[in-house]
Amino acid sequence: MPEKTPRYIVVLGSLMSGLGKGIVTASVGRILQSKGYSVSPIKFDGYLNVDCGTMNPLRHGEVFVLDDGTECDMDFGTYERFLNHSISGMNSITGGKLFSKVIQKERAGGYLGRDVQIVPHLTNEIKDWIRNVGKDSGSDFVLVEVGGTVGDLENSYFIEAMRQMAREEGERVLFVQLTYITALSPGELKTKPTQHANKLITSMGIQPRIIICRGDEPLDKEAREKISLFCNVAPEDVFDDPKLETIYELPLVLEKQKFSSRLLGHFGLKASDEDLKGWSAMVSKIKDPKNEINVAISGKYTAVKDAYVSVKEALVHAAAANNTRVHIEWVDTERLEKEEGLRAAELLGKYDGIIVPGGFGSRGVEGKIMAIRHCREHQVPYLGLCLGMQLMIVEYARDVAKLEGANSTEMDEKTPYPVIHIMPEQLKVKDKGATMRLGAWECVLAKGSKAYAAYGTEKIAERHRHRYEVNNELVPKLEEAGLVFSGRSPDGRIVEMCEWKEGWGMATQGHPELKSRLEAPAPLFAGFVKACLKGQKEQEKAEAEKGSKRLEADVF
Ligand code: GLN
Repeated sequence: MPEKTPRYIVVLGSLMSGLGKGIVTASVGRILQSKGYSVSPIKFDGYLNVDCGTMNPLRHGEVFVLDDGTECDMDFGTYERFLNHSISGMNSITGGKLFSKVIQKERAGGYLGRDVQIVPHLTNEIKDWIRNVGKDSGSDFVLVEVGGTVGDLENSYFIEAMRQMAREEGERVLFVQLTYITALSPGELKTKPTQHANKLITSMGIQPRIIICRGDEPLDKEAREKISLFCNVAPEDVFDDPKLETIYELPLVLEKQKFSSRLLGHFGLKASDEDLKGWSAMVSKIKDPKNEINVAISGKYTAVKDAYVSVKEALVHAAAANNTRVHIEWVDTERLEKEEGLRAAELLGKYDGIIVPGGFGSRGVEGKIMAIRHCREHQVPYLGLCLGMQLMIVEYARDVAKLEGANSTEMDEKTPYPVIHIMPEQLKVKDKGATMRLGAWECVLAKGSKAYAAYGTEKIAERHRHRYEVNNELVPKLEEAGLVFSGRSPDGRIVEMCEWKEGWGMATQGHPELKSRLEAPAPLFAGFVKACLKGQKEQEKAEAEKGSKRLEADVF
């Protein structure tokens, strides 16, 4: 069989960061998929960290974990949520990975007799890497998102490699410029900054073929024509990327402007008639659903929403599948700690369900435990993710099993009842990078459990990122007290899931949010949303009954 040669689409950000390059890249990919092409997205991040694993979510947003355990930029989450397939760690290229590779090669004598330089050695490494991803994935298109903005020092050598690639591959490489159109006053669009940014790109030997314009106002004809004239692209290749109610709308908005036929036309390819009908139906459910629920996410990084972006998106997917809008409120657990007891119930009473997501360290932990207790005592649906499962067990140990002072040794090394403790294989770990229990791990669910009902199958695999686990020695005590351990690793050693007998309270050591996609919501999130809706109905019924009793009392 002749080897398939992929085509490459390189997305460059200009003017400023934060324009949503990841969403644009993912949307381009989803559009191509709808036309029958396979895509493999690559992201380059210029930092010298090897991966995201050691970064603080407050500074950098969520650390996204792939099946193979790669800890990477949260844009990979966007790619998977749009493209509905799992991506390999090879698709994440960082400055750290590139430089280590070249330096290791130099030490091994890989460049004997030569001085090692950015051009050609580092740039060759980049081109080989990208071509290999193309070959290994067997995709029709490789999408390359260049992190940062054109003009940054950090990505300059990578962009140079892309220029070389375009020279070598000719028409098989196409550049997309993402830019921002300023409105000085309503209706007064300014394209000059975009023209300057485009000049900067062309000065690097690169000619973008497509320009996508973010803006608060719709792009008008005059602005489109100006960009076309000064940036050397056809007016039909200037696309509007307006403010949207949901990010999932972007593929539809671009397609309305005939994006795929222009893009494929540049590659000499025709767009088939297939369209985004299924996608569009999901987007309508996000925008105009029948039901509404209120969910609280109580974590430590509530000030920075990007820290829990996968949790938020998993809720959006599960809600859309249930024709529901989900209002998310971020509850600062440190505040809960200060407002103990009745006040906590008052603060949490308005939610149809509560999620405690993953986390590290002891800050805000007692507040999270209070939120979990509120759910257990009032039978409010609860979903615990990783740390959220560990704390569900701590709460149960203290309050139901009466193991006073029970804790995770992560929070209290001297606790008399270490219901959560460090994993034995972690004891010898000294390095911080890529040393947690990472990636997809299998779990066997107990038949008849609520977890089994949610997944509808016995064997599952969710992605993990943790160093602590349930202490098996204390499991019998917790089981005696009534906690159900509904999922374990196939060898039976590691507790993966637990649940309460009453209500819908469930938690997992994994991070199911990382595998949730618009077209394939995570089963636990779907179960959670359903439980929230059910609880809401029961409450309405109870209130109606109370009302009619009062009425009866008034009458008689
Ligand atoms: N800090 C806990 C652990 O390392 C939980 C981690 C998480 O929530 N991702 O086990």
